[in-house]
Amino acid sequence: MNKVRKPAPQLEGLIPYDPKYLPAEAFLSANENPSDVDAEVRELIARAIAKVPFNRYPDPLANKLRDLIAEANGLDRGCVLLGNGGDELLFDLALAWGGPGRTFLNLPPTFSVYAANARLTNTTVVDVARRDDFSIDEEAVLARVAEGDIDFVIVTSPNNPTGEQARPEFIAKLLAATDALVMVDEAYFEFSRATVRPLLADHQNLVILRTFSKAFSLAGVRLGYILANPGVIDEFLKVRQPYSVDAVSQAIGEVVFENRARFEPGIRQIIEERGRVMEALRTTGGVTPFPSDSNWILFRMEDAGAAWEYLYEHGVLVRDFSSAPLLENCLRATIGTPEQNDLFIRTLRDFVAKRREAQAAQSLGA
Ligand SMILES: *Cc1c(COP(=O)(O)O)cnc(C)c1O
Repeated sequence: MNKVRKPAPQLEGLIPYDPKYLPAEAFLSANENPSDVDAEVRELIARAIAKVPFNRYPDPLANKLRDLIAEANGLDRGCVLLGNGGDELLFDLALAWGGPGRTFLNLPPTFSVYAANARLTNTTVVDVARRDDFSIDEEAVLARVAEGDIDFVIVTSPNNPTGEQARPEFIAKLLAATDALVMVDEAYFEFSRATVRPLLADHQNLVILRTFSKAFSLAGVRLGYILANPGVIDEFLKVRQPYSVDAVSQAIGEVVFENRARFEPGIRQIIEERGRVMEALRTTGGVTPFPSDSNWILFRMEDAGAAWEYLYEHGVLVRDFSSAPLLENCLRATIGTPEQNDLFIRTLRDFVAKRREAQAAQSLGA
């Protein structure tokens, strides 16, 4: 037959994820580390990969890497699970705790992948929107979980794309108030220097998500992990793809994790540069940056769509949220190298100056 019946109804009208990456001199759109792994680590990786047997299936659980992560976090192996990027584990979360008749509490504006996964798995989404300053409406969240029908919640800390971490006191209160599974997405915790990991000891309903994609320069490799109590990990084991973490990624992850101290100077520089870019944005007329505990800054300005175009034409790619719900006129710039950040600030200031000149000329003409 030269025709095909319709796919599952939840796919109707769904738009495949497209980050809209374009080549640019300063690629400040994806919250990656601007520096690749250094030459020495790369050499160690090459040697490790040379020993990988390609004809054999990988260790399904990546136990060597699992043990390294467990030890660094003062946990047992059974409290750690690796995934093909944090994204795979987010999908596993929706499979294991979502589904028809089940409910996910989302705190928008936040990472769009969560709601997309809920939709794919026919999970009902309940939104408790953040306040105007993008802080969590803590009372509203606590009141909503008290209704008892929420199956899982994701608290992103720091929150992408807005920038600030959640208050640890709030997360502790939330964990105590509900038996819903609470995922704290700590994809950027290396830049906030804060984790709720100590809360795992007393809360069976906590799961923490981390990734190698941001601070550890491995976005291209696809490695993420969760920390949780063994009962939660066991449920993830039921839904995951057995061989999702390939042998090459495991080998790379082991080397990078063992050498993670070498990433520290780069992380420190990103944090310093964040302060410098923040100050530059604060002193640029008409631009309102939001506080950031992460490796990017979200800012609001008039004509953000036109500013995005101008930046792109001048070699700077930032993420355009200017027409996203709750993020009107917002752009998000990843902290890059000092040179990339300079180019970004200089170009944005040019745009603001040109726009002011044009407005002045118009009002004179009127
Ligand atoms: C980047 C990111 C992740 C995970 O990314 P992976 O590359 O799939 O590991 C998870 N959550 C948030 C909020 C992110 O920004």
